[in-house]
Amino acid sequence: MVFTALLLDRDDDKKVTASLTELDDDRLPDGDVTVDVEWSSLNYKDGMILQGIGGLVRNYPHVPGIDLAGTVAASDDDRFAAGDRVALTGWRVGEVHWGGYAGRARVSGDWLVALPDQVSTRQAMAVGTAGFTAMQALTALEDHGVAPGADRPVLVTGASGGVGSSALLWGGAMGHHLVASTGRPENADDLLTLGAADVIDRAELAENPARPLLSERWHGCVDAVGGDTLAHVLAEMAYGGSVAACGLAGGNGLSTTVIPFLLRGVNLLGIDSVMCPPEPRQRVWGRVAEVLADEAIAARLGAMTTDVALGEVASLAPEILAGQVKGRVVVACS
Ligand code: NDP
Repeated sequence: MVFTALLLDRDDDKKVTASLTELDDDRLPDGDVTVDVEWSSLNYKDGMILQGIGGLVRNYPHVPGIDLAGTVAASDDDRFAAGDRVALTGWRVGEVHWGGYAGRARVSGDWLVALPDQVSTRQAMAVGTAGFTAMQALTALEDHGVAPGADRPVLVTGASGGVGSSALLWGGAMGHHLVASTGRPENADDLLTLGAADVIDRAELAENPARPLLSERWHGCVDAVGGDTLAHVLAEMAYGGSVAACGLAGGNGLSTTVIPFLLRGVNLLGIDSVMCPPEPRQRVWGRVAEVLADEAIAARLGAMTTDVALGEVASLAPEILAGQVKGRVVVACS
């Protein structure tokens, strides 16, 4: 079958360019399941790949797109049959394996998740890697005792972005008292609608504090920013609190002290959605499906999601890298 793909190529000067190209099935990589891709999504990592930043892609030509959702066209894997609705996030698809920015993908069945009946392929991509990571972070916090009803709130940094806005949506639906940190005060009303009880300016958290401990402020934190923001948040964690470190939008360095861990028993939880094994992965998707069963939450997910065509996604890469994309962007691939 002939399908359209967004193909990345790199010239002798290492400049990466993207073009819409007609491909045949026989160009697809090896894999036991072929998927007719309906939707993909745009994430921070997609922005890096589309711009050729970070050396994430080694082999060109390459089809990017770290997420995909669609219908199985053919399968040599007993767990999947033609017609099944599936989603894929992570496993370095879109980096080392051709990804979702195409009408067709061929992947390993081990990487696929069967979509619950109530979750559409478009909704699965509105969730995508960002929404999955946000739910993974919240379940990790819950596993470490961060339950709704605590004395102090749960902070969400990078709140306007994909991980942050998803964390507000899920966390609000799960009953957490959430505070959103953002550099864009004009987004405050949207963040409150999503699930935040309060919004603060990210400048409050931007500096690595001179003192190792500040007033106890947060019971939990979903952190998409890293760097000095994370160092600041660690110093403000309440006794026994937990931080789920998801991202590095504000830098990948971390200069802190051991004092919050020694004197306040703070937990720093690493969140990796990419190689998350199948069992916890299915559990996270199960929590997503539970939350999305609430029509009001599903409507909010829809409202924070923008649709773009395959031919438009490359032009959005600089915007997502500059932190200017709000909420989730889904890419129509069929
Ligand atoms: P987005 O670009 O959608 O969101 C990031 C947000 O961070 C921005 O919207 C902005 O929010 C804030 N921000 C941007 N730049 C800065 C800065 N210099 N300092 C402080 N805040 C900043 O990205 P995603 O939400 O998709 O991803 C967020 C991070 O999480 C990325 O680093 C990404 O690589 C990582 N990630 C990690 C995953 C994992 O498995 N661990 C999976 C998915 C993503 P605001 O304007 O509201 O402040």
